[in-house]
Amino acid sequence: MVELSGVSFGYQSDKNVLDNLNLRMEEGRFYGLLGMNGSGKTTLLKLIAGKLFAHGGEIYVDGRNLRERDVETLQKVFMLPADFIFPNMSLEQFLAIYSEFYPEFRKEVLNDCLVNFEIQRDIKNLNQLSLGEKHKVAFSIALSLGTKIVLLDEAANGMDIPARKMFRKLLMKHVREDQIVVLSTHIVQDIENLLTDVIVLRKDAPVYAASLEEIASRYSFGIQSNEEGVLYAEACTEGYHVITHKQENMDTEVSLELLFNALIKGGGRI
Ligand code: ADP
Repeated sequence: MVELSGVSFGYQSDKNVLDNLNLRMEEGRFYGLLGMNGSGKTTLLKLIAGKLFAHGGEIYVDGRNLRERDVETLQKVFMLPADFIFPNMSLEQFLAIYSEFYPEFRKEVLNDCLVNFEIQRDIKNLNQLSLGEKHKVAFSIALSLGTKIVLLDEAANGMDIPARKMFRKLLMKHVREDQIVVLSTHIVQDIENLLTDVIVLRKDAPVYAASLEEIASRYSFGIQSNEEGVLYAEACTEGYHVITHKQENMDTEVSLELLFNALIKGGGRI
């Protein structure tokens, strides 16, 4: 379990990016970390990965405070940064270094990911791959390291549409029940049907965190001809896409995009 208790962080002393953040993430859950550009998604992932230190508050991984920086705890967390850079080395050399630090590394998972992405296993220089290939290989490595906590920062961004589909399939196939996955994105469609929970970072408003079950039990999503009784509405060709309080006769799927828009610009009714 990951717990953030009253976490604050700012790059400048007079301006916090994250302020008094409380969150709890549990095993077997997929968290979608959403927010506009600059809302603090990468910062939050870096804090959980132990790459940045909270200025206030504490972060616990399985009950251990990250400030202690004990190796066993750091080995449980892997963050794939959005701007990762591969060194000039072969995949084998790279794996020799990484698999040493991450004892749960599984070669079979890596091989399966690479086969599905149609990438040759024998990579002589990781740095000479195309941008799209680099993203596929980096993601494949991130999955195969087998860490309890997998933090993926905009990981599907550099991928084309078929690769994004494969990205989702491979996550569903290889993530274990005891893992926690956090995927940050500003493209909500990338992660729909994959998530169990959403975390939305908002400027000047508290973080919104809820499971999809909770959201579905509280709200209905649908189309209406008018804006009567809605919590949030967006005009569309058929009338309005709306979010309302739960209506038993309206059984619709959660629209993450609509929820996200409601949270970002919806006037605080959700
Ligand atoms: P997101 O991932 O949601 O786009 P970030 O966590 O990258 O947001 O950034 C949050 C805020 O912190 C932004 O305003 C960004 O400009 C600022 N920021 C990020 N990294 C640094 C840094 N190394 N130094 C100073 N400011 C930074």
